[in-house]
Amino acid sequence: MLEDFLHFTLHNETPEPTAGTAPSGVRWRWLGQGMLELSPPRQVDTHMVLSAGIHGDETAPIEILRDLVADLASGALPLAIRVLVLLGNAPAMTAGKRYLDDDLNRLFCGAYRKLPHCAESPRAAALERAVAGFFDEAAGARWHLDLHTAIRPSVFERFALLPHRTAPYREDVFDWLAALDISAVLNHREQSNTFTYFSCSQHNALAATLELGKVMPFGMNDLTRFAKVTDGLRLMLSGQPLPQGAPRPRIFDVVGQLDKQSERFVLVVGSQMANFTAYPKGTLIATDDGYQYAVAHEEERIVFPNPKVKVGLRAGLMVVERVV
Ligand SMILES: [Zn+2]
Repeated sequence: MLEDFLHFTLHNETPEPTAGTAPSGVRWRWLGQGMLELSPPRQVDTHMVLSAGIHGDETAPIEILRDLVADLASGALPLAIRVLVLLGNAPAMTAGKRYLDDDLNRLFCGAYRKLPHCAESPRAAALERAVAGFFDEAAGARWHLDLHTAIRPSVFERFALLPHRTAPYREDVFDWLAALDISAVLNHREQSNTFTYFSCSQHNALAATLELGKVMPFGMNDLTRFAKVTDGLRLMLSGQPLPQGAPRPRIFDVVGQLDKQSERFVLVVGSQMANFTAYPKGTLIATDDGYQYAVAHEEERIVFPNPKVKVGLRAGLMVVERVV
């Protein structure tokens, strides 16, 4: 099973037995579809959740996690931390879709309870239970890296989204993000219902959503484009020291949000621009009934522009670079 964890997940098969010890000595427990805990034989003080496929069509990170699990099982990659590997939305993965009914990454922190008939709601609940159970037994450092790929190109090919939290992030978090080939970091300033906000706010984990490149179907990914990310993950899993010399990511703060208040919402700047496209002060970005958004800072950049979202949802974020 550990050689092809993804196969079991996509076919909704349960391995028999559901726990064991791999040839490498790594102990494993199958906690449900797409949920696998791996731990080294000795006690460790770092606990990491690694998730992918929260959006079912973002296949490259899913394939990366599949390959990492296989290497941890065979011993090709030594395991020095405890890790919970989660493949998020298996039915959407099988269907080749981002989601079936609703975006799973908007359903955490209990938000799924408001959508009882949505296909994704039970999955959000199951993932929350798995993370809670994993961190309940965790004394020491807690991490959660949620791996994604983006629909549109980006000025910065790989970037991280850090959920809002009151305490500042430790400096080594940015060094690790640099080691994972992340060149920009976006700080959220408000609460949300994302998976990483859940881990951060409810389980005190250092959590980051990583956008690692472009969406492609299963088998179509050129995983060499993700080699530096994979190398960074291998270092983290095997407890190796941080590589030196990677440039620190540029840091951006959210300064505005484009809200789709009605079907008359218009993204004036178009909808095909890359993430982090910059606009000068005064540029009219979006209009809606009795609402408009114009750039108020010297320069603002747009992230995740999407005028097609449902009314009432966020149609984009505006960010500015932090001067350090
Ligand atoms: Zn995604």
